[in-house]
Amino acid sequence: MEARQYDVIIVGGGISGCALLYLLARYTDLKNIALIEKYGSIASLNTHGRNNSQTLHCGDIETNYTLEKAKKVKAAAAMVVNYARQLPSSEHILYKYSKMVLGVGEAECDLLQKRYEEFHPHYDKMQCWDADGISRVEPNVVWGRNERILALGVEDDYSAVNFQALSDSFVSQARQVPGKNISVYLNTRVKSIHQEENNFRVQTSRAPFDARFVVVSASGHSLLFAQNMGYGKEYACLPVAGSFYYAPDILNGKVYTVQNDKLPFAAIHGDPDLLVRGKTRFGPTALILPMLERRNYRTVTDFLRLFSFDRGVMGTMWDLVKVKEIRNYILKNFLFEVPYIRQRLFLKDARKIVPTLQLEDLTFARHIGGVRPVMIDKINRRLHLGEAKINPGNGILFNMTPSPGATSCLQNGEQDLRIIVDYLGCEFNEQKFRSELNPQ
Ligand SMILES: Cc1cc2nc3c(=O)[nH]c(=O)nc-3n(C[C@H](O)[C@H](O)[C@H](O)COP(=O)(O)OP(=O)(O)OC[C@H]3O[C@@H](n4cnc5c(N)ncnc54)[C@H](O)[C@@H]3O)c2cc1C
Repeated sequence: MEARQYDVIIVGGGISGCALLYLLARYTDLKNIALIEKYGSIASLNTHGRNNSQTLHCGDIETNYTLEKAKKVKAAAAMVVNYARQLPSSEHILYKYSKMVLGVGEAECDLLQKRYEEFHPHYDKMQCWDADGISRVEPNVVWGRNERILALGVEDDYSAVNFQALSDSFVSQARQVPGKNISVYLNTRVKSIHQEENNFRVQTSRAPFDARFVVVSASGHSLLFAQNMGYGKEYACLPVAGSFYYAPDILNGKVYTVQNDKLPFAAIHGDPDLLVRGKTRFGPTALILPMLERRNYRTVTDFLRLFSFDRGVMGTMWDLVKVKEIRNYILKNFLFEVPYIRQRLFLKDARKIVPTLQLEDLTFARHIGGVRPVMIDKINRRLHLGEAKINPGNGILFNMTPSPGATSCLQNGEQDLRIIVDYLGCEFNEQKFRSELNPQ
């Protein structure tokens, strides 16, 4: 069968793929670009608002970020705001809520006080609130509490995003660029990718396609594609799912808690759900699951192909579970899924945010919560937190993007765009890009 030819094919219609589609359509002279998505709609997996925390991460309330990482994330978030604010539909994409990170007890309050000194010069809207200040913004956080509390917060800024709506807007904006052939194939599963003499042949459930450059942004599946082509063997994937719990409308904005250095993803938060009005959502938990997609048992075999129980993987896992705190945390997160005990167990954690929360207030949010594809660096026997990119340098890229991947979609897309522009030798209108998105 004759294959349709594209300049660039993007595999995966989540926010990473959609942001890149937009950037290539708007700022390069590439004419033929295709996006291939296996499900029937854009951004139905981890990018969908029901599956993530809907937070525009700016680095001011995420205590697991160093100042350097925070500044990078702040710049990424600003690109999203600069893009979305000029859209007529921006009020369905970006939302202003107050946000804070809450310290409970002397040690956490001292840590936040120090952090305020370091971060405040870089975040001019950041405030440091004692109990009275917190009570003005979030009264339910203060009610019924005896310990000392302190918070770093921002009252009037964009803090929440409907990432699916943002992804949809990228696709429709890309399609509106004149003189471009932008093809979006839904319900089309990419089965394999092969390098040929001048092209990549992308075999799909619909038809074969050819492209001069391919970007695979298919979450954990990206690593599977890479390894099938002989790349990225130094990585394995540890899928970390996140579940949520609903409570009545008890928070006005986002309340994050202080992260524990040893436990990535450990600290839960609470915030109003953008998609279920009138509910506060608490979470996410951090459940290690042997599947690449939540609630899709067919992806268990994909996980097993990636996990490869070899020395690098087993060594990394051993280094994790030998720490008692991590072991207990992994176990606790399994118990967070077990009916009857889960609410009781989770209540303890959620009460760190709202002390008067009652058991009957909490319900497990069914079919809510996606998977973060955390990479295991087998050579250095450690978890690779944050985004991972495999670039063999021959016209193909593989992206794995756990949190804050949705916030960083345009910043990550810019990196891909620059690699593509260098490789294909096409034009990039950098001036327009800078004036519209103002990347730092
Ligand atoms: C619990 C949780 C909370 C999070 N909270 C936040 C947050 O508050 N803020 C934030 O910035 N980030 C957050 N994240 C991270 C964020 O959701 C992800 O970084 C982001 O959605 C990744 O987008 P993506 O496009 O790379 O992947 P995805 O959204 O997973 O999209 C990948 C796409 O590839 C498609 N695909 C896979 N295989 C194939 C194939 N063979 N053929 C064709 N298509 C294929 C899939 O169907 C899917 O649509 C959170 C994640 C989780 C799990």
